[in-house]
Order: sequence, then C-alpha cells, then structure tokens
Amino acid sequence: MQSMSCLLVLPLLRSEEPEIILYNGNIWTVDESQPLAQAIAISGGRFLAVGSNDDVLPLATARTRKIDLAFKTVLPGFNDAHSHPVSAGVMRLRRVACDSDSIEKIQSALHERALQTPRGEWVVGFLYDDGKTPRPINRHDLDSAVPDHPVLVQHRGGHTVFVNSMALELAHVDDQTPDPVGGRFEHGADGHLTGFVGDAGTEVFFKLIPNKNTREDYRQGASLISKLFTSKGVTSACDADATPDGVQGYQDARDNAALAMRVYCHVSASSLEHFMAAGIHTGFGDDWVRIGGVKMYADGSISERTAWLSQPYIGIANNYVGLQLFSREKLYEMGRKAHAAGWQLATHANGDLAIDRTLGVYEQIQKELPEKDPRFRIEHCTLLTDALIQRMRALQVIPAPFSCYVYFHGDVMHFYGEDRTKFMFPMRSFIDAGLRPTDSSDYTASPADPMMWLQSQLTRTDMKGNVWGPNQRINLSEAIRCGTVNGAYAAFEERIKGSIQPGQLADLVVLAQDPFKTEPSKLVGIQVERTMVGGAWKYES
Ligand SMILES: [Zn+2]
Repeated sequence: MQSMSCLLVLPLLRSEEPEIILYNGNIWTVDESQPLAQAIAISGGRFLAVGSNDDVLPLATARTRKIDLAFKTVLPGFNDAHSHPVSAGVMRLRRVACDSDSIEKIQSALHERALQTPRGEWVVGFLYDDGKTPRPINRHDLDSAVPDHPVLVQHRGGHTVFVNSMALELAHVDDQTPDPVGGRFEHGADGHLTGFVGDAGTEVFFKLIPNKNTREDYRQGASLISKLFTSKGVTSACDADATPDGVQGYQDARDNAALAMRVYCHVSASSLEHFMAAGIHTGFGDDWVRIGGVKMYADGSISERTAWLSQPYIGIANNYVGLQLFSREKLYEMGRKAHAAGWQLATHANGDLAIDRTLGVYEQIQKELPEKDPRFRIEHCTLLTDALIQRMRALQVIPAPFSCYVYFHGDVMHFYGEDRTKFMFPMRSFIDAGLRPTDSSDYTASPADPMMWLQSQLTRTDMKGNVWGPNQRINLSEAIRCGTVNGAYAAFEERIKGSIQPGQLADLVVLAQDPFKTEPSKLVGIQVERTMVGGAWKYES
C-alpha cells in the first residue's frame, strides 16, 4: 500500500489536538490523492488527519479517545440524493404500514385500524407495492376489509393510490367521471372503477383527508427517519420535496439534537413563493439543514407506470404512454423565475419525453440567463437516449437516478421491456459521458440502503435473478463515488463532504465486511456496524 506513506493533515489545524483517532482501519477515502488509509484523526466534527497508523497515532494526546477499528472497512457516509424523509416519518406516525406481500395481511391491518377509528373517518395506508402482492389490491378488497370508513392506500412510490367505494363516493368519482389532466381513474374490463388512481387523480381524495399533523409530528418524523437512514450508513440526504412544515421539522429535530443526518431540502413548487418572499435561495442554512433547489414535476412514476414515454408501456391497453405533469410553460416560467433568483432547478422527469421537455426548458433558461455553475438537476432521469445524454453533457446536467430499482422493482421492468431497460438508470452511459450521477432511493419508493444500491448497480439483477440492462453495469469504486462525492457535488457541498480527507465533515460508515472482497450478488447482506456524523456515533449496531 504505497499510499500509506502519505499523511494528509490540515495545515491550519496542525496545532489542534485530535479528540478521536480511529486506527487499524481499512479505509476507502474516495480521495484520489490517497485512496486508502489506516487511521483518521478527528477534531471539531471534521477530519483533521488521514494516513497510516504510524503517521496518525502519534498525533494523540492524553485526552484523545483512540478507537481500534479491528481492520474493518470504512467508507465516507453515503448521500441519498433524492428521498422524502420527513414526510415518510410523519406517515409512519399516523398511517397503516401496508408493506406486506399478502393482500389478506394488508386487509387485516386496515381492519384493525378501522376498529380504533371513529366511524366515517379516513383510514389511510402507505408503503403498499402492487408489484409485491400476487395481484394489485382493489376497491372490493378494501370494501370487504373496511366497509364503514373511507380508505386510501398509497403506493410506496407516492404517485398512485388505491381507494374503496366509500372514498370514491365522497370524492364524487364514478364510472362516468372523466380522467383529469395528468391523472387517471382506472377502469376494469367490465367498465367499472377498480379503485386504482394515478397522479393528478389522487388530489380529489387527499383534499378530503384532514391534515392533523402537528409541529411536533414533523419534528418526530424527521428524527425517526434520520435514525433509520443512519442505521444503513446514510449520513446526508436530499429531501426532494420539502414543505415549510418539513423544513421546520428538520430544524426542530436538529435543535433538539435529534436529527441524526444532514439534509439538503429541495422546496416544493407550491412553497417557492414563500421562500422567495423571505429572501431565501439555494444554499441558505448550515451543515445540518440547508435549502436546496426548487422541485418541479414533468411526469409521473416508474414503479407505478405513470412516467411519460415516447413508446407505449408493454401489456397496458390503449397505447398508454404515461402522464405529463407540469406543462412546458409552467416549467419554464417557474424555472426562469427561480433561476434568476439564485435557485438550483430540480425537475422530476422519468420518461424520455419528460426528460426532453425538461432539457429544453433548461437549455432555454441558461441561454437567456447564463449562470456559471447552475448544476441543473434531473430527478430520477430514468429513460435516456444517446441524443438526450449528449444534451445533458453539453449543459453538465446532474442526473439523480434511482439506485436500486433493478434489484427492488424488478417486478415492474416487464412493463418497459428488456430492450428499453438497456437505457434505464443508465449509469454506465452517464459516467462514460463525463456526467456525475448520484445515488438515491426516493424513500419510501425503495429502501434507503446503500448496500442494495451497490448490488443493483454492479449486477443489474433483480431479487428473483432476472438481469435488466447488463450493459449499464458499473464497478464498485464508481458506484461508491456516485453515493458519496457525487451526492455532495449535486448539492454544491463537495468542499465539505463526500470523501475522507482533512477538512471535510467527519461523516463515515464502518462495515462488517469489505465490499471489495464480497461477491457483487452478496453486497446487500453487508451489515453496517457504526455510522458517524460530524465526529459523533449516530448509529451503533
Ligand atoms: Zn421523489
């Protein structure tokens, strides 16, 4: 290990004494000047020195806490560049978890909750995944489980819901109701509503569900999910659609020392005006809670089959090609205004047509109002073509793709077809084009589990062993970079985090096994032993 001879120390902090030294480690730094190290000194929540045991241990004073890593593997803390922590946390407090593969079990969980709910009030489920049950749940399943309450079960992807007959009645939706723009009320072969509702169609139901969440709920929700994420090795996340309540929840949790990870908050399009009126733009905040970009939507979801595609879905009637959300005019007007005021633009676009529209808007805005380093983001950025990738390259657009959809959502890939999956989540193509893709879960849509992300990207193989788009495989070092430095870069934070080098925030994860010595198909089994954020252990197994 040649690099062991090199000790990197922060020059200005040379006289500072380390509070903690971690030694005897197998430390992958993601710092090109010194990829491997044995020991790290930490002071004031930052890395002070990184090098060999022989170089770093002598920096210890009588007050330094020395921790023997017993040759365990250490990586920089992971960055989940697109997820929904606080809203997931609030849902956990109030809703019924429907993440079971059995319709009967989901029915009985909803039934149980209905028994404790006053007659006529809503019973709301979340985390449901119709790809995991033998068939999608429908209104009749929900009617028989819960006849006396309106029921809404949200898909874990967040774009679609399943409702019962009472919910349809309350929302005045019947077999004759036309689909709203950007939305869908599904009809069965018999012409009757199935209870499955897509995107803009869900609004009429959510409007009827009273929001009883308190400020304390948001604080608890933020805290709860930050702990869940750090238990998997995630030390930073981008909240991809934060409302003012959500941002306040993170801040309240931070003030109570109950926020275990750092968050970069894209603000929701509907709250942009409020933040702008307060004179806030991207970058406002501190190392724990920071304002990110503005989140806009060009189309629907991949796991729920509402992404806007140029070619029809396979096996869905009527040449269905998904849903467009914001119009081009809306994306342009909101984007231009935000861009001019110093906001990063972060647009949700899954399908190739949605990505084409988003790029067109970014190209126009950058031409009209050139910005030196805008770091335009496309959230998810799932289905590409070579031409679209070339346009992304010209503008250095950052893709924030789903990292474990091949592994976790393999059950929906047949709707896209084997050929199309060669251009979905195309990590190989992004990297080869010189782009900087991030890693992300879109939690709750898929698990915030970096080991699952790595396995999915290395193998392109789902849980059942089916391979989708093997041409897009990347190697382990590349995948780790995407989940660390690239996530920091996407948030303008690469100077303070993403690698283990002097001066960076002391965020790291200690693994029970070395991923470089693990079969790619076994990566998901690697346990996280400990997670450190800002020099403090936030998770210990
Ligand atoms: Zn999302």
